[in-house]
Amino acid sequence: MDASANTKKMMAERVDTVSSGPGVYLMKNDEGLVIYVGKAKNLKKRLASYFKRENQTDMKTGVLVKQISQFDTILTNSEQDALILEANLIRKYKPRYNMILKDDKRYPLLRIDITTHYPNITIARKIKKDGALYFGPYASAGSVHKTLKFINKTFKLRKCTTQSFKNRARPCLNYQMGICLAPCCFEVDPGIYREIIDEVALFLKGKTPELIRQVKQDMAHAAQDERFEDAAQLRDKVYALEKTLEKQVVVAKDMMDRDIIAISRGDHFSLITLLSVRAGILSGSRHFPFKETMADDSELVGTFIVQYYENAPHVPGEILLSVLPDDHDLLTEWLKGVKKTSVRLYSPQRGEKLALMAMALNNSAKEREEMEIQGRSRVDLLFRLKNRLGTRNVPEYIECFDNSNISGTEAVSAMVVFKNGKPFKSGYRKYKIKTVTGQDDYSYMAEVLLRRYGNESPDQMLPDLLMVDGGKGQLNIALSVLKELGMDQAFDVIGIAKKDEAKGEIRDKIYKAKRSNPVNFGRDGDLLLFLQNIRDEAHRFVITFHRARRDKKLRLSVLDSIPGIGPKRKTALLLHFGGLTGIMNAREEDLCAVEGMTASSARAVLEALGQGTSS
Ligand code: SF4
Repeated sequence: MDASANTKKMMAERVDTVSSGPGVYLMKNDEGLVIYVGKAKNLKKRLASYFKRENQTDMKTGVLVKQISQFDTILTNSEQDALILEANLIRKYKPRYNMILKDDKRYPLLRIDITTHYPNITIARKIKKDGALYFGPYASAGSVHKTLKFINKTFKLRKCTTQSFKNRARPCLNYQMGICLAPCCFEVDPGIYREIIDEVALFLKGKTPELIRQVKQDMAHAAQDERFEDAAQLRDKVYALEKTLEKQVVVAKDMMDRDIIAISRGDHFSLITLLSVRAGILSGSRHFPFKETMADDSELVGTFIVQYYENAPHVPGEILLSVLPDDHDLLTEWLKGVKKTSVRLYSPQRGEKLALMAMALNNSAKEREEMEIQGRSRVDLLFRLKNRLGTRNVPEYIECFDNSNISGTEAVSAMVVFKNGKPFKSGYRKYKIKTVTGQDDYSYMAEVLLRRYGNESPDQMLPDLLMVDGGKGQLNIALSVLKELGMDQAFDVIGIAKKDEAKGEIRDKIYKAKRSNPVNFGRDGDLLLFLQNIRDEAHRFVITFHRARRDKKLRLSVLDSIPGIGPKRKTALLLHFGGLTGIMNAREEDLCAVEGMTASSARAVLEALGQGTSS
């Protein structure tokens, strides 16, 4: 009997001792690592299905079973408790073969902090339990910006982000443009402001028709009371809202809120697609890919529901599912408990809802196919790049550095990362040059490479390929730094240099170690284009960083040229107002209140900053 058959026999014997009650099981590999967590109404029966069956009907389950060396069980008082414990353990262990919904920052949200007096509306990437209202998630940054722009134009919420109005002497341009009530400077009834927040919330919940009805009523009252200016403004609002409605697609005549969840399974990964319908209008679609999950469709949908709705800002009254989980009653109860609301989970069989499900399934299958094709072409590109450059590894993880400075001042460097052919933004890094004075690109490069691959971040993952912006000079610097660190064999390095049009060159050049001529890409022009894109991204990133630093310095240097403001007063002002913007918004009396300031120095500050004294 081989080792795995022996282990399976031992597991099967252990199953006999397991309770038949509800609970959670943890599968572990031979290193003791938890690779799968599941729940069961009857633990003994569930575990027997893994270890007592002669041949696994499902190939994936067969693969999992072969990796299991031991299991643990935790008995719970109820199935409901098992559901919650399972979710907690998945979160804790992140087992390889469970579906884990990532904290996906691709889908932005809108946030209104109703704990403040006069909340503004901002874009957020994560829902926090902070008492604020969250809306979305939105399908893209573009769609959230479009919505925000519309709200800022149509409703009179404040646009500034300052926490305190203390230092503001007069309203900004938003007030003059008639799109802010200016609570910063005028007494604004918090009740009226709250009504606007409620209107924005209705709009963001997709209840535009209801909102239009309300605004029309307000318009009629305003006209009746002969407040014609107000009535005209409300008319414009109705018009703007009606225009947004024209662009929306009504997919359900009952005008209800519902989510539709469909699964599309493939050989390499599965995809869950979620369509959101709000007040009968299709308001968004999102896709969640999962790799290597051992769960069947029923388990997959169940786990998705728990992980997704646990943190969702809104749970609709109905959730349509392409596969109804075996434990849907349990999930319904759980949703009711967590969200304090009744939710109906079901698989539609006919009519409009079946058509919605067909739409979701179709979208899911198409999206997965596209992802597979894109994935395949990226994999193909990286393999061809390995062959063309002759690198040790397929360059799945590429790091690229670029520097920026103006005449040797404010020198900075930045690193971008491309993972599996796509930008990996959480890997990006910015560096302020610390040890080099003057303009010396080679030394900047040496410093940042030493910091990146030396002691500063020893645990960080190493790339398959390092790219430096520049020709042979920068490449040689990179090679000598890596040699100094004893890492010259750890990964490959290339330099990318701009074409010299004066010499008649028609494309950028890629330089490799031990080779004097640039790499010839022949027919693989797309590989060079790919490397140019990485270099351009590094350039964009470092320039943005450099500009931000330069602008900050320029703004602060304005204070240095004000008569009567020496280093002491400058520091006191910056500390007191938290920065130049605070100082610019301050009144003369506020400036005078700062230690060391006088009326004349306060006036000098206001004049220098173009604020003067109000008449
Ligand atoms: S007018 Fe006042 S409250 Fe409105 S955005 Fe400008 S500074 Fe903020």
